[in-house]
Amino acid sequence: MKNLSTRTENMTPSLTVAIDTLAKKMKAEGKDVVSLGAGEPDLNTPTAICKAGIDAILAGKLRYTAPTGILEVREAVSHKLMRDNHLTYNADHIIMTSGAKHAVFNALAALINPGDEIIIPSPYWVTYPELVKWLGGIPVFINASAENHFKITAEQLQEAVTPKTKTIIFNNPCNPTGAVYSFSELEKLSKVILEEDLYCISDEVYEYFVYKGSFVSMASLNGMYERTILINGVSKSHCMTGWRLGYNAAPLAIAKIISKIQSQAIHHPSNISQYAGLAALNMDLESVFSMRDQFLKRRDYMLSRFQQIKDLFIAPPEGAFYLFVSVKNIYGKKTPEGKTISNSSDLCHYLLESEGLAIVPGAAFGDDSCVRFSYAADLETLTKACDRFERGIKNLG
Ligand code: PMP
Ligand code: GLU
Repeated sequence: MKNLSTRTENMTPSLTVAIDTLAKKMKAEGKDVVSLGAGEPDLNTPTAICKAGIDAILAGKLRYTAPTGILEVREAVSHKLMRDNHLTYNADHIIMTSGAKHAVFNALAALINPGDEIIIPSPYWVTYPELVKWLGGIPVFINASAENHFKITAEQLQEAVTPKTKTIIFNNPCNPTGAVYSFSELEKLSKVILEEDLYCISDEVYEYFVYKGSFVSMASLNGMYERTILINGVSKSHCMTGWRLGYNAAPLAIAKIISKIQSQAIHHPSNISQYAGLAALNMDLESVFSMRDQFLKRRDYMLSRFQQIKDLFIAPPEGAFYLFVSVKNIYGKKTPEGKTISNSSDLCHYLLESEGLAIVPGAAFGDDSCVRFSYAADLETLTKACDRFERGIKNLG
């Protein structure tokens, strides 16, 4: 038989998704697993949102919509972007997508020509480089070091730019590091983007989960609106991961290209989810901010536990709901069975097998010296996870 797609052969499947799927399967088999693998809020979708989904079904909102989505939900996104980010996008600039992940795909597909270089600050969210490569682009990584609180500088960005650079993918607050950029840091980066005539894909899915300072959208910086493809969604903010609803907001020329791609590839995200998303976007932000306050307590709990374990290094995260912990001082130690822990994958396998703790190897995010914990879990789960992690590390010799 003829070869299947070689481009796809070279794609690495999402490790965050793989670990989450494995942990859920192990739990379903009755195994005692504590999972801090997936970045998924632990709370259920608020009842009012679920009800809007049910009402949509009963009202027969079950036919095709426009490729960009229903007008009401795009208008609600437009209102949200004005209210929270002081950005003027009308409904024509907005495309509803099947989750923010799909909005990342749309943005890259709208920009990439074969051989284009796409700048990705590293550590990065697992999906970015794989989609860039799959679409024929070349990922170019800039190291956002722990010493610089996992942020890149304008100088680093400048150095990475070549005549082939098309865009940067910017994730603020960042998964997996929790780094949050200040206005002045963004301003410096935006100057390079403008001077070098680049685009910016700005993934803002963790915008509401900022613990220090306030969130600034890259698109709101002087001159950036025209060259930014903004990505956001309701998965994290409204506990709607399984509903699959996100969006792109972009200048009209780009919005039209994304709408064209979408009309051929998926047509539109679920009509039902769009009505549920409409209810989410129309809610006030009280419950979102109370979830953020919970996350802050959980972050502080995790930090206090990890500070008692020697050999770890953590740059305290200022946003999102992840801890990206340097474990490199543990490498070289042996498990009770005599296996050497040489990298983040070895450590995560060992912890899953010996302690039933699921976390994600930093290698999946471009930094093999770290492992990622999601603290979007209740305190009881976090306590168990910390106990297991501590015991697992103590048992290494
Ligand atoms: N961007 C980032 C940085 C993420 O961590 C995630 C993970 N959920 C997404 C996008 C995709 O979110 P969604 O569930 O809306 O597809
Ligand atoms: N974004 C979440 C994470 O990083 C969910 C899984 C995924 O889509 O990668 O864990």
